[in-house]
Amino acid sequence: MLNDNRIRALAALALITIAVWAYALAPAGHTLSLTVMDVGEGLCIVMRSPNGKTLVMDCGTNSWRNNDDVGKSLVLPYLRKMGVRQIDVAVISHPHEDHISGFEGLLQNCPAKLVIDTKSSEHSPTYNHLKNEIRRSGATYRFAKRGQTIEFDDGVIIQVLNPPSASEPGQDLNEESIVLRVIYGKTAFLLAGDIGNVSESEIMNENLPIRAQALQVGHHGSHQSTSYRWLEAVKPNAAVISCGRNNTYGHPAEETLERLTDSGTRVYRTDKNGAVSFYSDGNSIKVNAMVSH
Ligand SMILES: [Zn+2]
Ligand SMILES: [Zn+2]
Repeated sequence: MLNDNRIRALAALALITIAVWAYALAPAGHTLSLTVMDVGEGLCIVMRSPNGKTLVMDCGTNSWRNNDDVGKSLVLPYLRKMGVRQIDVAVISHPHEDHISGFEGLLQNCPAKLVIDTKSSEHSPTYNHLKNEIRRSGATYRFAKRGQTIEFDDGVIIQVLNPPSASEPGQDLNEESIVLRVIYGKTAFLLAGDIGNVSESEIMNENLPIRAQALQVGHHGSHQSTSYRWLEAVKPNAAVISCGRNNTYGHPAEETLERLTDSGTRVYRTDKNGAVSFYSDGNSIKVNAMVSH
């Protein structure tokens, strides 16, 4: 399902080719939706293609409500409501607790066909249980690396921008996060996981196309993420920060909010806006926040 050859060929072509290709594939009148769930200090993104295929990137929270399984209690009912019984692609951006705590519970009830993970030396009980569940379910399991494209659905192109390698586990799990750029027609979403300035610079140095109208702000809006240079390159119209109410990390950082505002980006935060959904018709992206101010 991960197609290295395709992206290698693609990378050899000029950026303009990508743009033309992307434009050509968007069917008129069909909507791609992407929702950043309100999971507190964690991350869970649910994407639905115009044909009803489902991608879930991360499913976890630092629960301030003890033992609350966000996969079973929040994400599963949300998917069921949309009639989803199987996840087409599950992405584990990196194995930190706040990104995976509910994933096992979710996959037990709504199995994934393809799971994309990073290679790491992480062995937490939560991660081990999740990997056991993935093995038990028989899902296809692959490691992500920069340059791949994920086959998801016609008209939707998903590019892997990070991590740089699938074989060399990095030291910093956050900087090794999977970063995805989802292209639909003329629109693009950039999902930055928990990366900070180091990976942002690395990705920019690769000269990959990273422009996106909508951005999931890296690392819950931490001050070491989302540099001016990054924002200049991505040029998002709208950005969403997934963070918990009164979290102890001070997320999002004032500096990050300032950089986003200075760059003319409209900011949504799950701690204030609840779940935030983006809808793309291939031409433009509309935003709908559960709670608007
Ligand atoms: Zn995190
Ligand atoms: Zn993390």
